[in-house]
Amino acid sequence: MQSANGSDKHEKLIIIGSGPAGYTAAIYAARAELKPLMFSGLQPGGQLMITTDVENYPGYPEAVMGPEMMEDFRKQAERFGTRIKYELITKVDLKAQPKVLTTDSGETYTADAVIISTGATAKWLGIEAEQTYANRGVSACAVCDGFFFKGQEVAIVGAGDTAAEEALYLSKLASTVHMLVRRDEMRASKIMQKRVMNTPNIKIYWNTEAYDLSGDPKVEKVHIRNNRTGEESEIAVGGFFVAIGHKPNTEIFAGQLDMDEAGYIINQPGSSRTNIEGVFVSGDAADKVYRQAVTAAGTGCMAALDAERWLAAYEAEQEEAGVEARA
Ligand code: NDP
Repeated sequence: MQSANGSDKHEKLIIIGSGPAGYTAAIYAARAELKPLMFSGLQPGGQLMITTDVENYPGYPEAVMGPEMMEDFRKQAERFGTRIKYELITKVDLKAQPKVLTTDSGETYTADAVIISTGATAKWLGIEAEQTYANRGVSACAVCDGFFFKGQEVAIVGAGDTAAEEALYLSKLASTVHMLVRRDEMRASKIMQKRVMNTPNIKIYWNTEAYDLSGDPKVEKVHIRNNRTGEESEIAVGGFFVAIGHKPNTEIFAGQLDMDEAGYIINQPGSSRTNIEGVFVSGDAADKVYRQAVTAAGTGCMAALDAERWLAAYEAEQEEAGVEARA
């Protein structure tokens, strides 16, 4: 069915992204009978799909695997009538009303309101060797690829909670994990640092940066430099993991939504509202501070409640102006 402006479908509410933020928004919106349509994106379930044990999400006293938790979120969202399309939104016009969204297959949808929960993606160091050895020993996901390096030595770059978690995961598979830390301290939480330091087969290199990889056809060595002394050396490894943080998945909204210099969408304080009426943001796309599944879920709830209130006012306005609600 085509809508008045030539799009394929009109929806009251579209949710972009399917991590904890998107699913929670969907659960609340579906229970409010907004009949949300969700576009899951390229990695349905988001970053938790590449996480092992989640020990800090309330309600799971014995911990839960990330993918299992996201499966629970999905079932809960679908139970109340959320429809999920396993497609990517590649283009948006959020300033139009209704808003126009285009998928990777070229279909267009219009929506009265939109909730953005597109999350964030792992960052890379930016050295050429990361590309050269892509799928030949380089990875940004220990949980996805660690198994391939069973019994081998591996290196991991980073010193945050992600790097600590991945180093611990790899330590169960690899013979030795060489952890390259660019400063003389770690950013990871104290409990994670303690676990890393108490693991005999994790070797920490302080003030150390990886500047190149070598090997043929796969990674055989990581070339490192001590950034205090300038001393260069190499470590023989079969795998090279990068765990240095994330970048928000917000490129398609650039020029339309207000963002900070890193690309995080700016929401109005204490609200999920953006600078555009009827567009709400939740989760890591707007959060560079907390970035937790539970905070993402909390802001997903906020976005659904804000969208519900905004839609009620919008529909009342439309009715007053004599325009019939379409969805
Ligand atoms: P962070 O931004 O917290 O840490 C990134 C790490 O990578 C830092 O140690 C940083 O070093 C290092 N780094 C960045 N760029 C480079 C570079 N070019 N070369 C070398 N090292 C580099 O990201 P995380 O992904 O670790 O964590 C993000 C958020 O998610 C955090 O709030 C974290 O607490 C949370 N988290 C929680 C988990 C849990 O509770 N189970 C699991 C995973 C993440 P430097 O310190 O010098 O800047």
